[in-house]
Amino acid sequence: MITINTQILGEDEKSIKTAAEILRNGGLVAFPTETVYGLGADAANENAVKKIFKAKGRPSDNPLIVHISTPDMLPEIVRHIPECAKILMDAFMPGPITLIMNKNSRVGNAVTAGLDTVAVRFPSHETARRLISEAGVPVAAPSANLSGKPSPTIARHVICDLNGRVDAIISGGECSAGVESTVIDCTGEYPVILRPGIITYDDIKEYIPEIQTDKNVLTALKEGEAPKCPGMKYKHYAPDADVTVVEGEPSAVASAIKKLISENAGKKIGVLSCTGEKYDGAFTLYTKNGNAGYAHSLFTLLRGFDEEGVDIVFAEFCINDKYSVSVKNRLYKSAGNKIIYV
Ligand code: AMP
Ligand code: MG
Repeated sequence: MITINTQILGEDEKSIKTAAEILRNGGLVAFPTETVYGLGADAANENAVKKIFKAKGRPSDNPLIVHISTPDMLPEIVRHIPECAKILMDAFMPGPITLIMNKNSRVGNAVTAGLDTVAVRFPSHETARRLISEAGVPVAAPSANLSGKPSPTIARHVICDLNGRVDAIISGGECSAGVESTVIDCTGEYPVILRPGIITYDDIKEYIPEIQTDKNVLTALKEGEAPKCPGMKYKHYAPDADVTVVEGEPSAVASAIKKLISENAGKKIGVLSCTGEKYDGAFTLYTKNGNAGYAHSLFTLLRGFDEEGVDIVFAEFCINDKYSVSVKNRLYKSAGNKIIYV
């Protein structure tokens, strides 16, 4: 059991200086970004990086994303910048996108889990950038949740998971995207999306027509199959409640869920609704409009079911738009790929 006195800091100048000093001294600081809250450590300090894995209970073979506050920090991390990465940086950075490139020898094994590549992100969130800039070091940061739980989109989620496990938590507002960054492997012949996000396949295709999506973004790995992205093989985004996705046309989805509610009488049932449908006998939480709204509210609502002590959740999925893939990627994982198509 880790018991650290966790300071809760604000976004003012003094707080940022305190947090930056903690990072420089090898401590852990959780901070807001435009995607979700991150849990940061000095990427060049192996001991500090190892503390991240311990605090989260994260498997040590799942590498971390290194955050920078200016592209000038890149030579400290990567061997060279491939042409496609330059195009993506010009188009989307700073912002909710992560690029995988070949690492240079200064990046330690704890950060990359022994891989020859490193994931790099240049966040647009002002507090994140001020913190990294004040610390003066690249900051390794996964999402600031206990491993396996939904990613945190407000400071309360971070406090709930990591109070007593990290040195400081910067309490900023709600994260604007609500899902993690789009991760793109830039080391092969063509760039490949390994994790979808708010910057979508269509957005990227405008700049790089050859962009591809890894087949495991929406399909579960086969027994023994090695993923391109180590994080793909782990249970993710799961609330304590057992989640099942019900996917199809809105009226068919509503009828199927009503039937499931009556079949599961006796259990405390939750419904995650994107249609606005009313369900008798179930604690129902509603997503914001469209799949951008679904993405934005998904993790908060999944945590909301745990706060209510729900046993099982039926999640509606009906909308097809540019954010569908990003929402489904998280929703399917939170359900352990239990999906009923109607
Ligand atoms: P999180 O830390 O929760 O934002 O997740 C970061 C994701 O990026 C995880 O799924 C990691 O497995 C993945 N990742 C980080 N570094 C690499 C890398 N060098 N190669 C492939 N995937 C990576
Ligand atoms: Mg995570």
